Amino acid sequence: MRETLRYAQSDNLAETNSQHIVTLMNSDKASAITIFLSERLQDLLRHGLNGNPIEYRLQRRASIKDIVESLGIPHTEIGAVRVGNLTTDFGFIPEPGQRLQVSEITPPFDVTRPSKLRPAPLPAVRFIVDVNVGRLAALLRLTGFDTAYGNRLDDRHIAALAHDDNRVVLTKDRALLKRSKIVFGRLVRAVLPEDQLTETLQFFGLAGPYNLFSRCLRCNRKLTPVTKAAIRHRLEPKTKKYFTSFKTCPDCNRIYWRGSHCDAMVAKLEKSGLREDSGLFLNCL
Ligand SMILES: [Zn+2]
Repeated sequence: MRETLRYAQSDNLAETNSQHIVTLMNSDKASAITIFLSERLQDLLRHGLNGNPIEYRLQRRASIKDIVESLGIPHTEIGAVRVGNLTTDFGFIPEPGQRLQVSEITPPFDVTRPSKLRPAPLPAVRFIVDVNVGRLAALLRLTGFDTAYGNRLDDRHIAALAHDDNRVVLTKDRALLKRSKIVFGRLVRAVLPEDQLTETLQFFGLAGPYNLFSRCLRCNRKLTPVTKAAIRHRLEPKTKKYFTSFKTCPDCNRIYWRGSHCDAMVAKLEKSGLREDSGLFLNCL
């Protein structure tokens, strides 16, 4: 169902875009603005659009946010818009003849600080992960970040949760990031989940220390320490014999201890450049 929904959306966008391509081809200087895109934003231009700067003919009053998104670039990727020496917000409506500089976000991107484009920052760094980068969710939870994920969440639900729950959207879907309810997001570039984790941590300036094994990998709830006596009846004989420190999830009741399964997860983090002996991890099991 979700695929059908996305197909329909991209169809609409393609239609909108084709109008803009015609617009660009027929542009005349009297009603045009000039848009200079920074290098990484040029990579996001919709197929068929190229060249920098772009001469864009105004046909109606439109915000710079709508104009740039019609070129294929989600607003979540934009770090600054300047007209001359002045920075503007997303609601700025360009006038014919103006020259605009549109730049990508420069990492590290601190979502807890206000900016011209995003005056209401997030109270904390929390994520919601789209299904197309789903394995990133477990790695973020493993490193202690509050990360919502559900493989049945469609775009509308992800946008609503991002808005209502103050979360940063991580996805490979540009159409999702163009939704107006989403303020903070990242079009994930890396392919492998371990590289996606590195990319996310670096982009948002999350340098640690990380609360390893502080959240349930299955349901995102914070784990709570539990005495061995309280869960002894649920342990396998070898686990009962060799391990003394345990945590449980208050939601799904899963038990966590430093068994071989945890070592395997830590090994995944090492692929992301996060070594356990680096002093970056807190609250290990
Ligand atoms: Zn759980």
